[in-house]
Amino acid sequence: MEDLKDIWRGALKVIEQTMARTVFVTWFQNTAPLRYEGGNFVVGMPHVFAKEQVQKQYGARIMDILKTQLTDLQQVTFEVDAALANTDDERKIELKAEPTKKMRRVAGGQEVSFGDGLRSRTLQGRYKLDSFIPGRNNRLPYAASQAVSTSPGGIYNPLFLYGQVGLGKTHLLQGTGNQIIKNHPDMLIVYITSENFVNEVVEAIRGRKMKEFKEKYRRVDCLIVDDIQFFGERPSSQEEFFHTFNDLYAAGKQIIISSDRGPKELQNLDDRLRSRFGMGMVVEVLPPEYETRLAILQNKCMQEGVIIDPDVLSCVAYHVEESVRDLEGVLKSIIACMQLEKIQPTVEIALEKIRQIHKAVDANEVRRYTGAMPGGVPVGALGAGAQRQGVATRGFVRNIDLVMTTVAKYYNISKQDLVGDDRRKEILVPRQMCMYLIRKELDEAYEKIGADFGGKNHTTVLHACNKIHKMLQTDQRAVRDLAAIREELGLA
Ligand code: ADP
Ligand code: MG
Repeated sequence: MEDLKDIWRGALKVIEQTMARTVFVTWFQNTAPLRYEGGNFVVGMPHVFAKEQVQKQYGARIMDILKTQLTDLQQVTFEVDAALANTDDERKIELKAEPTKKMRRVAGGQEVSFGDGLRSRTLQGRYKLDSFIPGRNNRLPYAASQAVSTSPGGIYNPLFLYGQVGLGKTHLLQGTGNQIIKNHPDMLIVYITSENFVNEVVEAIRGRKMKEFKEKYRRVDCLIVDDIQFFGERPSSQEEFFHTFNDLYAAGKQIIISSDRGPKELQNLDDRLRSRFGMGMVVEVLPPEYETRLAILQNKCMQEGVIIDPDVLSCVAYHVEESVRDLEGVLKSIIACMQLEKIQPTVEIALEKIRQIHKAVDANEVRRYTGAMPGGVPVGALGAGAQRQGVATRGFVRNIDLVMTTVAKYYNISKQDLVGDDRRKEILVPRQMCMYLIRKELDEAYEKIGADFGGKNHTTVLHACNKIHKMLQTDQRAVRDLAAIREELGLA
């Protein structure tokens, strides 16, 4: 066992070199080598999300690394072992949470000055592509940004990212710019907000420096314009941007743009520009799902070098859904309160902060949740919300309620039994099957599912999903049951 631990420790050291520390810690903390049998190296992961991410993103790399140690290695598999999330599990490798100074180092930070008073605000080093956590919803914008950073002026040109405020557009734009500087140190990158672009144009016109202005932008290898929606009613600036855009595009230079809405929705935008934007890659940046919100918070804690009760983090991740900026804001105020008042934040304090900063949770709701959050899960919290969402395929609208009803009917038990606490096998297995289905088919967060099953902890749901997943590999009956229920739900 100790041997395996050494091997895994060695592998982690190598993996760590290949990514930002925060990303490394986020995915590899609380992992353990479980066993090595028949050429299969089994790595234990603390939760499904880490398992899925690591398997998909780093599986091949880990295989290569381990192969150098284990010559007869055939495969590496990842298995969820929820016990690893406990602090005193001896099997896992401790990763020390060091606040990463490296992260704060300015990557490029170059101020582009052209000697004639024309300057551009450029990149801030704190935004790294590496520290953006794409989650399920933002894989595409993240992958596109990565591709652009390796081959600027390549197939994703222009890259147009749009989405609501606070979802990470500026982070992606700046992070891409910083990464381009790293990959191509000789390139000149200009990051500018559309407001500043407008100001520059106005200033240049006033100072009769249009020629210099044009020359300056012609030298740029990658032009990043943030929040293009502000171009709005400035036809002269738009015209100027249109020419700049065309020049750069024709010269094969990379252009990256962000906006709060898609090109088609941008009113007051010149049609020629609109259609130019559409020539490359247009991707929406979406709000992250629960697990990603939690990972973002954990990552942030790591960066700040603070340790916060996981229940508090789950609570924040659960309630603050719309904006990552708000998510960070709430966390910041919790940390501030922790440091100023020297108290450990509780779920109650977190709810208070959520209410202050994130107005979406009204006072009544907070009162309802307070005191009813064993393990950070609000009892009966989002039943209605989850049902409102539903998932429509082939004319069916499926929601948690429908899945529950169908499962209960199939196993011939009552819905009360399904959401209750009876642990007899004939009740427990249908309950777990139902949780599994809701997770798989409706993509609901563990917290939400737990809440809808009479206020169970999210780890209970996690455990249920893992158990059914394993069962489906050996138990023919379970496979048949699942197929029948899926058919009943119009999924098969
Ligand atoms: P936008 O430009 O879309 O309004 P920002 O890029 O300013 O949003 O993001 C707001 C804050 O949230 C920033 O501090 C950013 O670093 C952080 N953030 C947003 N999305 C993510 C993510 N997926 N992973 C890590 N941090 C994120
Ligand atoms: Mg922004």
